[in-house]
Amino acid sequence: MTFRTLGLSDPILQALEDKGYSTPTDIQRKAIPAILEGRDLIATAQTGTGKTAAFVLPMLEALRGERKRRAKRFRALILVPTRELAIQVQDNIQLYSKHLSVVSMTMVGGVDLEPQKQQLIDGVDIVVATPGRLLDLAHQRALYFDELEILVLDEADRMLDMGFIDDLDKIIARLPSQRQSLLFSATLSSQVKSLAKSVVDNPLEISIASNQKTTPKISQWLIAVDKHNKSALLSHLVKERDWNQALIFIRTQHGAAKLVSQLEKRGIKAEAIHGGKSQASRSKILADFKSGDLNILIATGVAARGIDINELERVVNYDMPDDADEYIHRIGRTGRAGSAGEAVSLVSKDDFKRLCAVERRLGKIIDRVIIDEFPVVKDLPASNLNFSVKIAKKNKPVKKPGQPSKSAQPATKKPEAKTPWGSIKK
Ligand code: AMP
Repeated sequence: MTFRTLGLSDPILQALEDKGYSTPTDIQRKAIPAILEGRDLIATAQTGTGKTAAFVLPMLEALRGERKRRAKRFRALILVPTRELAIQVQDNIQLYSKHLSVVSMTMVGGVDLEPQKQQLIDGVDIVVATPGRLLDLAHQRALYFDELEILVLDEADRMLDMGFIDDLDKIIARLPSQRQSLLFSATLSSQVKSLAKSVVDNPLEISIASNQKTTPKISQWLIAVDKHNKSALLSHLVKERDWNQALIFIRTQHGAAKLVSQLEKRGIKAEAIHGGKSQASRSKILADFKSGDLNILIATGVAARGIDINELERVVNYDMPDDADEYIHRIGRTGRAGSAGEAVSLVSKDDFKRLCAVERRLGKIIDRVIIDEFPVVKDLPASNLNFSVKIAKKNKPVKKPGQPSKSAQPATKKPEAKTPWGSIKK
């Protein structure tokens, strides 16, 4: 199947050819014809599946005809959770619309309002916005929704995680009821479903299974490590394995800043992006990372949300995420659109419950790798796909006949002995 058979016209096909895309991805094959027919859509798809093009391409097709623009009005609205993702989506729109006269803009916080107001007055077709800034400008009567035809909620689950539900409700209440609505989400939680009820009408539901062809190309492994050794281990990996590119996820802004200086002391240049940094400095750091001038980028989960780098070599979970879905989002940054990548997790004993939740979500145990230079003192217990946090908290584990009790195991036991699936050295 080609992009032409999906119903896209020449200027868009030309842009895709310029970019070197010859074959639509799964989600593009399923979503584009339905969107072109005018249907509403709920699509479950992770980053890396080509989901952005899946809604941008048919949107451009719908908007490509010449039409006079009215000040402060626009025909399509794409709501995204973060500034970075807004910029990323806007880059995609500009790329795909290069042979069209469609005008698009980003509307995000952290930057001056005035240029955004002026752009709205000059006339735009597509607005890519974070909910807060959009509402701000709506309250100031800098924009009106009466000409809106297409609404996209991108990474809806993440917008809900970030507490945008009230803003989303307020925005949706202001939109014309005659519109096409498309909702994209990595997961379909009950909150997402309930949001969808107020947004889409008789939608086509598409689910791109997590075993789609990009997933197996991500090699996932972990290293059990004592918490205080994590930064030394990370430095060791960067140096010994000649890591040219690593996106490192860490829980807190403070932790990110600390890690930058710990790596620097060991001669490794790294930068951190997090919500506490200005948009200008985040953009600069991201551009350096994308161009290869910066090899190691440390990010808190939220800040990293919109990062899209083709063929990102690896992501590192310096901390295991609290939410198993977040792990899926993170590893979706690598091995994108068919290229190989690796996801490495540094797991200390206090990360164990989070590790079990991730492995249960994946339905498999992640390979453990032993680094001889970093023997573990606080053992990471063997993984257990049936692990349930509630049961483990309430009841002591029942000792099966013939099975040694946990407390009987020496604390400094060799790591090989505690991995029933065998240890792997890479
Ligand atoms: P997304 O899931 O939208 O973040 O896209 C993941 C990556 O795949 C982006 O870098 C896109 O530019 C790229 N991409 C999207 N569609 C295709 C395609 N049909 N062929 C190859 N790469 C693609």
